Amino acid sequence: MKKIVTILGARPQFIKGAVLSREIAKCKDLEEVIIHTGQHYDANMSAVFFEEMGIPTPAYHLNINGLSHGAMTGQMLAEIEKVLLQEKPAAVVVFGDTNSTLAGALAAKKLGIKLVHIEAGLRSFNMQMPEEINRILTDRISDLLLCPTQQAMDNLELEGYDHIENTVVKSGDIMKDAVHYYSRLSAEKSNVLSQLGLTASPFVLATIHRQENTDDLSKLKAIFKGLESIGLQEKVVVPLHPRTKAILEKHGLQYNITFIAPVGYFDMMELLKHCSMVVTDSGGLQKEAFFHKKHCVIARNETEWVELVEHGFATIVGSDTEILQEAYTAFKTKKSDFSMNLFGENIGGTIMKEIQQLIELS
Ligand code: UDP
Repeated sequence: MKKIVTILGARPQFIKGAVLSREIAKCKDLEEVIIHTGQHYDANMSAVFFEEMGIPTPAYHLNINGLSHGAMTGQMLAEIEKVLLQEKPAAVVVFGDTNSTLAGALAAKKLGIKLVHIEAGLRSFNMQMPEEINRILTDRISDLLLCPTQQAMDNLELEGYDHIENTVVKSGDIMKDAVHYYSRLSAEKSNVLSQLGLTASPFVLATIHRQENTDDLSKLKAIFKGLESIGLQEKVVVPLHPRTKAILEKHGLQYNITFIAPVGYFDMMELLKHCSMVVTDSGGLQKEAFFHKKHCVIARNETEWVELVEHGFATIVGSDTEILQEAYTAFKTKKSDFSMNLFGENIGGTIMKEIQQLIELS
């Protein structure tokens, strides 16, 4: 039986990994070995996703977190290498753009193990973002690059990937499968709406956690001021990321907003289904808003998911309070047709077929 090692570490990777785990489980000749790096470790940032989404228990838990980028990536690299030497997988799969992604990619490639990157080709063209560095380096050494969008394919072509020995495939966005699968179950599994008293009143769902916003107090304050002013019209619900929470607490910043602890995926699906709009600096949430037919205000200066902006489903406001308020007001009355297929179909199945082919060739 051949083994596939999947590297998970951060919340969005658990969600993407859940889709792939279900696909791998369908293949009788394949065994999945999950390495959890420990990058996210709070119960509501990690365990809840394994429980709710039925992700197999990781075979290895590295428990590496709370370090600087270099130290974290270095320790992960060393520990993942040990596991790969022991498990001898046919392929290693990494997701997205975190330090866990880069560490897993480097460990696999240097051992000559086939490397698969899910969510390849995304670019923000902002090298200040640690995620941008991680994704560029991971793409460059991957054997199979699975792109979520045509834009991601175009980005790689522009970087000369036509001349690099690897396989680049437009697979579609794996998160779409997660949303479709879990939002069918969430109404039964979640009571977040009644818990928060949201069944009758409209509300905006917001998340803020990107380092570029949390590390710059003036940006963070401007965004939360914008959210607070929206709150005068309808409730603003913010599941608060631990990093943002720590910074707000450190500086004694308080806002008249409904802050809640990070929620599990079923709660998130219900919040997305019933909110009026999303305000976020998250990558994943921008698309989930679209899948749930909601407009999205992006509190960043750029996005990797440019098609959402091009087609008017989302708008970029940076960290400007007034522009944020204007975007909210404009979307309040805007009607959009969300039926456009921007992110593919049967993505998990396509990805699995490509991985099978890669392994057979090796
Ligand atoms: N998410 C969640 N609970 C929360 C906040 C986010 O389940 O309280 C989910 C969200 O629906 C999306 C993913 O976490 O699927 C996004 O993760 P995050 O924003 O941390 O990372 P990014 O997508 O920006 O890399």
